[in-house]
Amino acid sequence: MIEVFGQFIGGRALKGEEAPEVAFNPSTGEELVNLASASREQVDAAVAAARQAYPIWSRMPPRERANRMLKIAERVEQLAGEFADLEMRNCGKPIGTAKAIDVGNTIDVFRFFAGAARTLHGLPAGEYRPGYTSMLRRDPLGVCVGIAPWNYPLMMASWKIAPVIAAGNTVVIKPSEHTPLTTLKLAEVCAEFLPEGVVNVVTGNGPNVGARLVSHPDVCMVSLTGDVATGRKIMEAVAPTIKRTHFELGGKAPVIVLEDADIAAAVEAIAEGGYYNAGQDCTAACRVYAHVNIHDRLVAELEAAVRRIDVGDPAQPGTVLGPMITARQRDRVDGFVARAAADTPAEIVTGGTRPDRPGFFYNPTLIAGARHQDEIVQKEVFGPVVSVTRFDDDAQVLGWANDCEYGLASSVWTRDVGKAAEFAARLEYGVTWINTHSVNTAEMPHGGVKLSGYGSDLSVYCLEHYTVTRHVMIKH
Ligand code: NAD
Repeated sequence: MIEVFGQFIGGRALKGEEAPEVAFNPSTGEELVNLASASREQVDAAVAAARQAYPIWSRMPPRERANRMLKIAERVEQLAGEFADLEMRNCGKPIGTAKAIDVGNTIDVFRFFAGAARTLHGLPAGEYRPGYTSMLRRDPLGVCVGIAPWNYPLMMASWKIAPVIAAGNTVVIKPSEHTPLTTLKLAEVCAEFLPEGVVNVVTGNGPNVGARLVSHPDVCMVSLTGDVATGRKIMEAVAPTIKRTHFELGGKAPVIVLEDADIAAAVEAIAEGGYYNAGQDCTAACRVYAHVNIHDRLVAELEAAVRRIDVGDPAQPGTVLGPMITARQRDRVDGFVARAAADTPAEIVTGGTRPDRPGFFYNPTLIAGARHQDEIVQKEVFGPVVSVTRFDDDAQVLGWANDCEYGLASSVWTRDVGKAAEFAARLEYGVTWINTHSVNTAEMPHGGVKLSGYGSDLSVYCLEHYTVTRHVMIKH
């Protein structure tokens, strides 16, 4: 068991005052931590602390805010091993990727937004009516709330803290009840360099702690990465107080492999991007459409690649695929696979089983012969499962790719630059990768359309969500 206080409010770690939430080590199935949740009074106290810190932080010159954020990045870098170990134990992430990707991205995001804090400018001032000068200000909003999921706890915490404070806001963040540990540790690091109350964390479940937080009248903005159903609930909860929202919801990424594609490259990317983080990724390369002339070769090569994926103890350096987050999530995934096998013509090429070991593991699964309208192709599985569907021509596959309730990520595989450009122009997704998949960079926005939500994380564009453009007019 890990000794940790559950809440971080006004620069201090505190014990929660309400019913505990248990978080497990998913690779053993054993209890890892049992944290009392934030009470209503503690949620109020976290918002009050953020509100109190706001005038101090928002008036601090951007250079000073940036310098402090750079120090946070540096300290996370110094503590990279500890952060990676916690993330491994709380999420089952292989230790190497936890350090390189989850911690590495967190450091990079703080550094990027430290720089971005100094670039917040509007259009130049001017005389738009004779005798008057107009100017624009980009000002922060106030207290923002971040609600984070369990699949990338540390990274999501950094995405929901760094741009928010770069813009001069203060923040209360609620991590998933399954994965509170690295967010709490990050808050402690932030508190070393920021005025007290700029970053606060409350923990507990969604219906109690999350719901109280998002409906708090002193909160100006809510940013959620989570499920579509949660997005709907938050929209309803904020309606009475008309708060801004920003939603990063689910995804079901089409991977379109055209007849002329480099099959080996596509196979490598799908075997990595379809199963990375045990498939618990909203941009996972999970919905493959393969041209009829290359379909059989792609399935055969993908099967071989998937069978080579090393499943096991995340602490071992060679492990590629760790467990799923909870037994419930694993059983949900198993249900999708079982229904595809029982109710559709689809065939399980490999996987569809659990390895014989404790913890919440599920073997990497490849399904072929799935039809476009099947549940396994349409619904977000959020597990290590990839389906392949055969298509005949470009118009058909473009229609199928867009015939989906989600719109987050997509990829097209072709050697024809004209086709690549045409698909990129017509795919209804927040990102389209050409001959690659799931590659992010802090400089580019990450966000979707349709049920995947609106707004973006990362890039200078996301600062627009955390600022308001204000007009100041001076009479001469
Ligand atoms: P979830 O929606 O169940 O939980 C996300 C967060 O919302 C948690 O902290 C939870 O406690 C909180 N929450 C739940 N109900 C709430 C309420 N009524 N009010 C306030 N907060 C509430 O999602 P999850 O199961 O943690 O994560 C998996 C989901 O997240 C998947 O659907 C996945 O697609 C999505 N996701 C999307 C992206 C993206 O960038 N688009 C990235 C990662 C995950």
